[in-house]
Amino acid sequence: MTARILDIPVWEVVKKIANQEISSEDYISETLERIQKIDPKINAYITVIKEASLDKALELDKQIRQGKTVGRLAGLPIAIKDSICVKNIKNTCGSRMLENFVAPYNATVADKIIREDGIIIGKTNLDEFAMGTSTEHSYFGATRNPWDSSKVPGGSSGGSAASIASFEAALALGSDTGGSIRSPASFCSVVGLKPTYGAVSRYGLVSYSNSLEQIGPIARDVRSTAILMDCINGHDIRDSTSKNTVPQRFADIFKNTVKNLKIGVPNEFFGEGVQKEVHKSIWNVIHKIEKLGFHYEKTTLPLVKYALPAYYIIAMSEASSNLARYDGLRYGFNVLKNNLNWNTTFSKNRRNGFGDEVRQRIMLGTYTLSAGYFDQYYLKAQKIRTLIKQDFDRAFKKFDILVVPSMPILPFALGEKLNDPLSLYMCDINTVPANLAGIPSISIPCGLSSGLPIGVQIMAPPFREDLLFKAGYLFEENVTIDKSVGEFTNV
Ligand code: GLN
Repeated sequence: MTARILDIPVWEVVKKIANQEISSEDYISETLERIQKIDPKINAYITVIKEASLDKALELDKQIRQGKTVGRLAGLPIAIKDSICVKNIKNTCGSRMLENFVAPYNATVADKIIREDGIIIGKTNLDEFAMGTSTEHSYFGATRNPWDSSKVPGGSSGGSAASIASFEAALALGSDTGGSIRSPASFCSVVGLKPTYGAVSRYGLVSYSNSLEQIGPIARDVRSTAILMDCINGHDIRDSTSKNTVPQRFADIFKNTVKNLKIGVPNEFFGEGVQKEVHKSIWNVIHKIEKLGFHYEKTTLPLVKYALPAYYIIAMSEASSNLARYDGLRYGFNVLKNNLNWNTTFSKNRRNGFGDEVRQRIMLGTYTLSAGYFDQYYLKAQKIRTLIKQDFDRAFKKFDILVVPSMPILPFALGEKLNDPLSLYMCDINTVPANLAGIPSISIPCGLSSGLPIGVQIMAPPFREDLLFKAGYLFEENVTIDKSVGEFTNV
């Protein structure tokens, strides 16, 4: 890629826009041009907001020239996953069911971005209702990996991560129920943070599995990720699960480098399904950090081996309940045949409005919640969840952070796992534990193998995102990685 303003780190761009070194108009125009050129090949976006974004940039530049104080995201193009509502813009959730659904209100995170003068440039592709790990299960077609377009970008927030990796946005929002921010961040070589449960308001996020998911930021570097997190976190009276504490502030934490970090490396995340290239890359990071004087110790979280089945039971159970609202009557896909009775209309709308993966999960979730099976599945999974949380509590008495691979394997070929849901579910083995425990977790790029990205995952105790940013920055500074964009490098 030739040197352009898009190459300047976003945390610097935002300062340059505010002091008139760069105009928001130029930055937005270049981003839109890039989207036009590259997105037909990547399919990161479901909706691109062109004219309104340019109008906002012009208006903002004018305000800056007039000396007005602008917000902390002033003039930046921000992409938002298409399951997070932005008023008057379609919110499809990657589903035929909501193909023509226009959001009547802003999610709290969208409001916060607008308040900070960020420019919402589009809505990004995802696995239908965020159910997936590859962004192939979208009614709007698969998103492709910018590093190699024959490979998946990870998912379900694959559109958001791909938009960042391919310079089609400065910052993005995804949601992470069992890895949907960290998986695509890892596969696309960008930074993705799943915040502590309750740190960011979920108001306006279409629910898949509400006890597990959080909205979080995606960016090309740690400092830029922190800027967006700074703006979106905090209590919201419209989300009863958001924690009522003083919002954390991260902008200044990079001034001092971190000196002491007790690092734990839990065995369970390096099991037999983890490819040797991934092993190598993660241990390379750990050894580099060790050379800087940070000590690590191997440890064990014995109950984490039950995380994947517990996660899928809980996620599918909650999904079956959350998705019960889509009947196509008030909004959403409707067969529109007036002569049908209610039962037939309901089942026809749901059969045709939802894709196979979503229907499969609704059926399984209905089963695990049904009388007679509830105790055996859902209740048991919840008990395991508590035990896993206790495993983490114990580990964090001894360690500040835990370091593990984000994904067990390298980005795989499109279509490779489409007919094998279990092998796709297995890809989440290292990401779901943090969701079950409600702890924050970040994925940082740590290298390439045969040109394909690998991410290192750092986990910390609840509401210690500051530790993730500090450790993440340390890793980022000390691990040399290729910052180009694979096959799209020269586009
Ligand atoms: N791959 C996981 C699932 O399909 C996680 C998805 C997510 O985090 N939204 O449930």
